[in-house]
Amino acid sequence: MTRPLLARLSAAALIWLAAVGAGPVDDPLTRPIDTANNARWMAPQAPVRVHGGTWLYGSAHLSVGVVDTPQGLVLIDAGLPQSVPVLAQALAARGRRLSDIRAILLTEGHYDHAGGVAAIVRASGARVYGSAWTAATLARGISDEDDPQRATIVPFPPFRGVRVLGDGAVLRIGGVAFTVMATPGHTPGSLSYRWRSCDGAGSAGRDCATIVFASSLNPLATGAYRYDAPGRAGVVAAFRRGLDRLRAQPCDIVLTTHPEHAEADARLAASIDHPASPAWRDTNGCIALADRFAARLTKILQAGRQDPARQ
Ligand SMILES: [Zn+2]
Repeated sequence: MTRPLLARLSAAALIWLAAVGAGPVDDPLTRPIDTANNARWMAPQAPVRVHGGTWLYGSAHLSVGVVDTPQGLVLIDAGLPQSVPVLAQALAARGRRLSDIRAILLTEGHYDHAGGVAAIVRASGARVYGSAWTAATLARGISDEDDPQRATIVPFPPFRGVRVLGDGAVLRIGGVAFTVMATPGHTPGSLSYRWRSCDGAGSAGRDCATIVFASSLNPLATGAYRYDAPGRAGVVAAFRRGLDRLRAQPCDIVLTTHPEHAEADARLAASIDHPASPAWRDTNGCIALADRFAARLTKILQAGRQDPARQ
């Protein structure tokens, strides 16, 4: 009787097959989560330098912020589980590795932004930061009933040990101070981050910019969740306070978890042709972003249901 193919392959051959991606390797921490958005979220996108040591990795529709500090890389969000091997390849192209990642700052506890945490921590030992709600969500690997998208959200590899940050906290890593802003609403625990980036030195002088990486502000409700339900006035008020916080920040460059939220598609395109493109600078960017989603929230509340355009 002929032995099955796998049984006849030597261990070395199996390792080779795994290395070239030909083997049936199933890693539970990078196992693909299949969603309707995968084609957009996994579309190849070369890393884009935004300013100084701040880069956008990920894809054109799902961002992973990377801040290169003397003490290692700081990530804003971690992408999908299946984004991690792609991130590793993109880092390798710049001579960096997953093990260079020192910290991950999470904007929210959804699978498209936090799904890759467990795999990245396994490779790097990075410290992970987020809100209390995000920490509890990652520990379970799934949202609770307070999530407006609970009805449709999918589970992802859980992670225990998220260090909790609150509004106004300042986290210093590698000489960069990351200021935390609570921007709840899309999830109850969404956080945005702000830091100062400086480029260049010497006689040419330094060019500095305040960068804000904003969480998703999309008031997206699924299933029976309604932002206008009795008892959710506090949720809506907190949502609006977060938008006000975003408007009031120093903000020269705004980055978003999904670049189209800041209408950044053109900026991404410009930056690919011209690294560190000045196109990213927009001192009205945070205000415009907050206004856009405040209007969407108002529309949903007035309609008494989910924005028809988003269903
Ligand atoms: Zn989300």
